Amino acid sequence: MSTTHGRRDFLRAAGALAAPTLLGGLASCAPARVPAHAAAVASTAATPLGIDMHNHVYPAGTEPHPQRGPQGGPPQGGPSSGPSQAGPPPRPEEQPPTRELSLAEELKRSGLTAVSASFVLDFAANLQPGDARANLLRWFTAIDQELEKGHVRRARNLGDLRGAQAEGKPTIIQSVEGAHFIEGDLARVGEVYERGLRHLQLLHEKDDMVSPLGDTNTGVAHLGGLTALGADVVKECNRLGIVVDLAHASHATVLGALKVATQPVIISHTNLDTWTGRDPRMAERMRPRLISKEHAKVVADAGGVIGVWTHLAGSLREFVESVKAMVDAVGVDHVGMGTDTDLLSSRVGHGTNEAWPELAGGFFQAVVGEMQRQGFALEDIAKVGGENYCRVFGAVTAGRA
Ligand SMILES: [Zn+2]
Repeated sequence: MSTTHGRRDFLRAAGALAAPTLLGGLASCAPARVPAHAAAVASTAATPLGIDMHNHVYPAGTEPHPQRGPQGGPPQGGPSSGPSQAGPPPRPEEQPPTRELSLAEELKRSGLTAVSASFVLDFAANLQPGDARANLLRWFTAIDQELEKGHVRRARNLGDLRGAQAEGKPTIIQSVEGAHFIEGDLARVGEVYERGLRHLQLLHEKDDMVSPLGDTNTGVAHLGGLTALGADVVKECNRLGIVVDLAHASHATVLGALKVATQPVIISHTNLDTWTGRDPRMAERMRPRLISKEHAKVVADAGGVIGVWTHLAGSLREFVESVKAMVDAVGVDHVGMGTDTDLLSSRVGHGTNEAWPELAGGFFQAVVGEMQRQGFALEDIAKVGGENYCRVFGAVTAGRA
């Protein structure tokens, strides 16, 4: 990031966007009466609740890339959808000098209320059974240490997200990309729940080395969709109060999960295969990870939410166009944002607040402004911005502390 961007820029950007547009229209988010001059002093309550359904948050030293992280060992290869694989390799001058950016500062700057903070478990060096669990617990400990500093909170239920919105307190929803830590032991779902995990993406790219949960959308299907253990994991998540995320799952896996799920599910980050942006090379690379309208509709029809990716959008304008395509396909009650960026990266295209070259302020303020420009109603901006995710998160975690 550029250290010249900070709280001051956040306020300026939020203030510019908040004014007469958001303050009046978002009854569920804004205070009942807001003085006209309040727009000049942007408050978090003046902007809609914003949730990034899929972000990568790695406290310094915990990146799941063997050459940089604490896990050691060789990279495991294979195709990847993570931030490190999302675009061309950075030029040396684009590399941040350090990763000692403040999580709280970047979250505030983004304008988002919360991000689902996801650890890509199969990018870590899991060489033998037990390694994936150990790597995940190590990352949890690093996150715990970050939270102990008191600048960022963890959301365990909907009340925590509403509190984050009301108080403007940067918040994460603890998540993981790939449930490789389970290794046939269902009790481990309870273990990570106790550590604060509330959002579990069943699959990524590699199979669980002990007992796979289902076919992915990038591998050769060989499990017949969701496995029996995968079904048990979905049920256990529903029982405990963990959001089930079916990003990277094959169509058969999604159908299997919906058969046993008692709560709505999400697909945190993808695009429609009918909206592939203006970069044919990237579109081709990402094609296996995109979903058909039919795939999107079965998730939406079950009450779920689909997060739209930033990866195929070359600009803010294109991103909102891709959101619109998803809204047209499944309805505005079933669309969210899942950037798959890294809040702490300062690289253009990779960092949440650096998602596009023209992004001068925070990510969410810019998206809200562009959605308005493209004609989205304020109520719909709030839904896509975070209320839809909250609906699922609230239902799944209802009654949990
Ligand atoms: Zn992914």
